[in-house]
Amino acid sequence: MIDFDKIVAIDIHTHAEEPCCGHRDDGYDEFQAGMAKYFKNPAGAQGMLPSVQETAAYYRERNIAAVIFPVDAERETGFRRYSNEEVAQICAENDDILIPFASVDPWKGKAGIREIRRLVRDFGVQGFKFHPTMQGFWPNEHQFFPIYDAIQEEGKIALFHTGQTGVGSGMRGGMGMKLKYSNPMALDDVAAEFPDLKIILAHPSFPWQEEALAVCQHKPNVYIDLSGWSPKYFPEILVKYANSLLKKKMLFGSDWPAITPDRWLADFEQAGFRDEVKQLILKDNARRLLGV
Ligand SMILES: [Zn+2]
Repeated sequence: MIDFDKIVAIDIHTHAEEPCCGHRDDGYDEFQAGMAKYFKNPAGAQGMLPSVQETAAYYRERNIAAVIFPVDAERETGFRRYSNEEVAQICAENDDILIPFASVDPWKGKAGIREIRRLVRDFGVQGFKFHPTMQGFWPNEHQFFPIYDAIQEEGKIALFHTGQTGVGSGMRGGMGMKLKYSNPMALDDVAAEFPDLKIILAHPSFPWQEEALAVCQHKPNVYIDLSGWSPKYFPEILVKYANSLLKKKMLFGSDWPAITPDRWLADFEQAGFRDEVKQLILKDNARRLLGV
């Protein structure tokens, strides 16, 4: 078990990037290379992304707990997914430091709902990651509501990518990815329809930062994670809200391995956050949200 009093922070947003099944799908390496270029992450460019086991060791060394998840976008990308069960299993073996989330492509419908319930009940999964752009869906369409219903009933968290993305960035046609789906305003509908579903809007939501702040301010069940960007580049209004109105709703996240917590935390110190707010963002808000 994680000793939440002893750890220094909770990173709410890290990725399990291992490709599935031994050999990689066509285009998977190019996709990862595009991401690496966007984030200026040399490990990704060389196909040297860390395994979940290596991620656990890295975080353990720093005494930081980490939420980790794969992304299932099989329908939209054609890339076979990394098994949720396998990720959860490695998390269980490293339960002093890792917190398992999972990802189920929302287009899987009833089979997806069955999987969500099984992952919560049999594998201790604490939340689910969605990526509207990479999964190619409007999160506020009714056909996806039964999925949120299941997550809400299980009392778990739904984390949504918002704003621009490294996925497909600079590739021909952006790899077919459409940015519009990641407008956080679509999640205002979800937060209204599912008032007991805990929702995280991931990342500064450029070019819809103010939309994200409005949704988070208006809906008690919505949080914002600050992953995917160095705090050096945070818009002023985001820091302003984090320091005041939304100080209990903001969460530390890195987006490992795209951005390392070392870099994020160093830049966070310089980004104008008030001292009493830093502790809330780094740990206390996540504890409340996770119920630990
Ligand atoms: Zn991410």
